[in-house]
Amino acid sequence: MNFGVMTAAYIGASALFIMALGGLSHQESARRGNIYGILGMALAMGVTIAGAVTDNYGLLLAGLVPGGIIGYILAKRVEMTSMPELVAILHSLVGLAAVFVGFANALGHGESASVVAQRIHDVETSLGIFIGAVTFTGSLVAYLKLSGKVSGNPLQLPGRHMINLAIVLVSLYLIVEFAAVGATDGMIYLYIITLLALVFGAHLVVAIGGADMPVVVSMLNSYSGWAAAAMGFMLGNDLLIVVGALVGSSGAILSYIMCRAMNRKFLNVILGGIGSKKKKASPAAGAAVEEQGEIVEIQSEEAAHMLESAKEVMIIPGYGMAVAQAQHTVFEITKKLREKGVNVRFGIHPVAGRMPGHMNVLLAEAKVPYDIVYEMDEINEDFPKVDVSVVIGANDIVNPAANEVEDSPIAGMPVLEPWKGKHTIVLKRGMSRGYAGVENPLFFKDNTRMLFGDAKQTVDALLKHLSAD
Ligand code: NDP
Repeated sequence: MNFGVMTAAYIGASALFIMALGGLSHQESARRGNIYGILGMALAMGVTIAGAVTDNYGLLLAGLVPGGIIGYILAKRVEMTSMPELVAILHSLVGLAAVFVGFANALGHGESASVVAQRIHDVETSLGIFIGAVTFTGSLVAYLKLSGKVSGNPLQLPGRHMINLAIVLVSLYLIVEFAAVGATDGMIYLYIITLLALVFGAHLVVAIGGADMPVVVSMLNSYSGWAAAAMGFMLGNDLLIVVGALVGSSGAILSYIMCRAMNRKFLNVILGGIGSKKKKASPAAGAAVEEQGEIVEIQSEEAAHMLESAKEVMIIPGYGMAVAQAQHTVFEITKKLREKGVNVRFGIHPVAGRMPGHMNVLLAEAKVPYDIVYEMDEINEDFPKVDVSVVIGANDIVNPAANEVEDSPIAGMPVLEPWKGKHTIVLKRGMSRGYAGVENPLFFKDNTRMLFGDAKQTVDALLKHLSAD
């Protein structure tokens, strides 16, 4: 394929990816953004296959066809609740691909025309392998934590910051040594760099605690972008560099936004609490909360009556609503209440659920109008005017301990404050703690009523009572 045509197509694909990111930043345009992304990817792959690949089509198909089929089946089968784990495991594959491309590049690359070009190429290769390996194991550990296969608690080894620093310094030294001798004599350096980076990635993420996991997810998103950009440099592919940089920087911006939403310092989080007081779920704090008062149960009929008698209702969805897939019935309830003249709004916490934007996606899927969905910052001051807040499968994001208990793992994180309203009804199955493993004093407040059961069943029962009247 003509080089000019390929370059033009790559510029077109880059523009489509930028438009995709722009679209994805608002719910109204998210669907359009997705379509731009699909078109950009189809164009990029089509041009690369037709233009850049000149040989070994059999090998290409042997990767593309099974990969495409597995991806299709996974995308069809995956439950919305397992999406964060899927994203984490997919990030790990980007990292692994960068490691493979790095080794293939080191082994198969001929000598460059000049010594300087050769040195630059060797640095790109070793750095790409380093970033790829960190992304690979970091994402694998994030996958294990998010899927509950290993504990979400931080594992903080003594001297962990010194271990991290030592790994980074030794890796930098080895990258310089590798560039000095090149791939012919320096493969041993690459092997050691890979090994160190694999340990570094896993060690970074195991040290990060449950409540800080949202930042890990977005940070690994960013790393996978940088790994792709590194592949672009290794392969001399400008489009991969642009796309990698887009993903890398948007992931970094998202991490920053998540940190700000959780009132955390970015470096503290990614280095597993450097410079901050160690915050662990203290059983003593939990016990003190347990003794704070009594749980008062409510049944669905009475709860429905409270809702229809209210003027202002605030719905606060959390991870449990995603698990129960209750969003469609929640919207039915919303419509019923609005018909009865009740002003219903949704309050969304930035880290509700298990991935950035999780609740917005669910509500959009259920076709809840965007203009009644508010971010935490927009709505928190309105709670004193709210008659009934309905907390559906949420826990950490409405936990007053974040403001009240100093040594809580979620201390300092801004939360939605339904207890400031007249009444709160909490829909959950039992008294389990949230993701951060902290007891929740909200459940013991005088103006809180607990409606126990799977959220889908309880919202179905609420809808039935609202429809009966
Ligand atoms: P939480 O995990 O804190 O609480 C969810 C609650 O839902 C649980 O206490 C559980 O209680 C209840 N629940 C679970 N299943 C059901 C069901 N079928 N029906 C009814 N209730 C159910 O969720 P939140 O959304 O409040 O907070 C999110 C947490 O996840 C934060 O700690 C955040 O840091 C973390 N996180 C967020 C990420 C993100 O990007 N958004 C990524 C990774 C972690 P019970 O078992 O008693 O029913």
